Amino acid sequence: MPHDPTAIRNVALVGHHGAGKTTLAEALLAATGSVARRGSVEKGTTVMDFEPEEVARQLSISTSLAPFTVNGVKVNLLDAPGYADFAGEMLTALANVDLAVVVVSATDGVQAQTEDAWRAAGRLGVPRVIVINKLDRERADFDRTLADIRQAFGAGVAPVELPIGREAEFHGVIDLLDDTATHYDTPGAGSAVDGTVPPAGHEGPIPDDLIDEEHVVHEQLVEGIVVGDDDLMERYLNGETLEYAELEKSLAGGVASASVFPVLCCSAASGVGVDRLARLIEELCPTPASRPPVLASAGTETAEIPCDPAGPTLLTVAKTFNDPHTGKMSLCKVISGTLQPDAVLVNSRSKEEERLHALQSIAGHATAPVTTVAAGDFVAVPRLNGTRTGDTLAPKGQPVVVPPPELPVPALQVAVKPATRADDDKLMSALQRICDEDPSLTVTRDDETHQTILGVNGEVHLGVTLERLERKCNVHVEREDLRIAYRETITKPAAAEGKHKKQSGGHGQFGVCHLRLEPLGRGEGFAFRDEVVGGVIPRQYIPAVEKGVVETFALGGLHGFPIVDVAVTVDDGKAHSVDSNEVSFKMAAALAVKAALPEAGPIVLEPVSRLEVTIPDECQGDVMGDLSARRAKIVGTDPAAHEGYQTVTAAVPTAEITRYAIDLRALTGGRGTFRATYDRYDALPDHLVASLPKPEE
Ligand code: GDP
Repeated sequence: MPHDPTAIRNVALVGHHGAGKTTLAEALLAATGSVARRGSVEKGTTVMDFEPEEVARQLSISTSLAPFTVNGVKVNLLDAPGYADFAGEMLTALANVDLAVVVVSATDGVQAQTEDAWRAAGRLGVPRVIVINKLDRERADFDRTLADIRQAFGAGVAPVELPIGREAEFHGVIDLLDDTATHYDTPGAGSAVDGTVPPAGHEGPIPDDLIDEEHVVHEQLVEGIVVGDDDLMERYLNGETLEYAELEKSLAGGVASASVFPVLCCSAASGVGVDRLARLIEELCPTPASRPPVLASAGTETAEIPCDPAGPTLLTVAKTFNDPHTGKMSLCKVISGTLQPDAVLVNSRSKEEERLHALQSIAGHATAPVTTVAAGDFVAVPRLNGTRTGDTLAPKGQPVVVPPPELPVPALQVAVKPATRADDDKLMSALQRICDEDPSLTVTRDDETHQTILGVNGEVHLGVTLERLERKCNVHVEREDLRIAYRETITKPAAAEGKHKKQSGGHGQFGVCHLRLEPLGRGEGFAFRDEVVGGVIPRQYIPAVEKGVVETFALGGLHGFPIVDVAVTVDDGKAHSVDSNEVSFKMAAALAVKAALPEAGPIVLEPVSRLEVTIPDECQGDVMGDLSARRAKIVGTDPAAHEGYQTVTAAVPTAEITRYAIDLRALTGGRGTFRATYDRYDALPDHLVASLPKPEE
């Protein structure tokens, strides 16, 4: 039997790297009996982090899914990476769930990727709860962390639990809605979690020293809840005692409309609060059926698709992954309809039919066959060979597209080259395969610099991508310096004659042309004019002169970079009735260009990017100072969309920002973001010309 949408909850754990998401996922799975015992991040034995690249780094790099069951409801838990390099994965996870559980460390508070996750969830309209984790740790501080959360996320933040005991003594949780306390018999601080099951809570007294505080915060919570409910408000003002069930229902309503954000507390390591968290997730998370319909495009129309098991079958592909053992697997979300094995759907992008031979449930890397999957649930489908992450699979004749979330533009451009000739042949197809799995990655070929460029979100993303290339595709690449597409031009007119004469028995070669070179405006490219009079160069050879100029410009000037923004006029020359031919005039033109160039005030041009950097106000001084060291010209500074941030716009030589993603992260503690787009070419200052790379052979 498929799960009815009302018996499904789709939840993503998000937050800063290291806040404890993977450990918490493991604890939730074990506390609800979905796995017999917990693994540990340190030992590489968790359900969620199973790719070798993740185990080696103790870092989630891709979203994984594992379900647990609580109160008869299936909770699909997605563990999204918190590291900035994998922000694309987090966005995809958020786009596929109905609740984001934002995990905040009680020792570190709100961090850069906590804010990123919060904003992304806000943009996508995803309801949120916040979990203060690691309350068992030394220097963990609930009050300070809550104040930090309130400051960052403002109105709507509503604690619904209070911790009992501090740091190693943290052993229970007070429920502020129903004024009860749950106590846990913890094995003691510092005990290994590996192989254990988190303890179950049992009811106990609210400690005397917390009774007053509990009372105050309980009232605040109730006031916060009734504000959004006229009926409850009236009864509250009349002094009536409100029932737990009705308060909870109203709270869930506030969560669903993303106006109330409950704050919970736990320790994923000691297990305190984890079983409660599992139940609260089930209670507070909206069901897929109660969420607004998914917006899809059908041709020029926009269609609203409700989560209906009886509707047409529609799937989106949350991610695809390739594994040498299991082959290609697509993790799909069933948006509408009920899916059975052997269904035939059409990929709305490629228009190709895909047969879904087998359906599998997925828990980390383990899969098990299932027979039916209904709207609102996830399913893994092997061997959908023409399908990529982000695709929509729709019934025949109904080419509906559910747009995937917009991913950030890759922040770091890196040039790679094949390590051996054998790798060369496989490189492009292997890169394409890795891109299909990870849409936040881009691959381009730069024809001007002859480099293959990977667009990644940071060094870790790059490292992981290169390791995957080796592990999954057996292709080895080396990183090389990014070549900047410098160009050359001239600053004053010059003229010269080129003479090509060769006598080697039989027909000779003969051509003479006189060329004038004049500078054009920046970006105007190339112009060619014919002012030959009296047929001194026969008409049929003029195109050969032009070709000679174009080819010489492309081969490069004094520094080996292509010559641009020059007008060339041919105004005189000589021909021979027998020995002249096209080759002779091409050669003559090349010689004339080479002779004129040094006299024409040649300069090197460098690409300049328009850079928009969004940073917290307090980082402005550092970022501006750094930009001026990069030869940037500041265009303006404006308040950014979110408070406390500003956007600095500048024109910066592209060569100065090839590693800006990493440097900005260091300058702003990961809070800064930027966008760089090509803007124009400007003269490279003389003192830098000497340090240019030597022309390529
Ligand atoms: P993620 O990057 O958010 O998935 O964080 P991890 O789950 O990988 O946890 C980062 C580190 O914090 C690991 O060493 C965990 O063992 C540790 N950790 C996670 N949760 C807790 C907790 O509640 N208490 C303590 N003391 N350590 C924790």
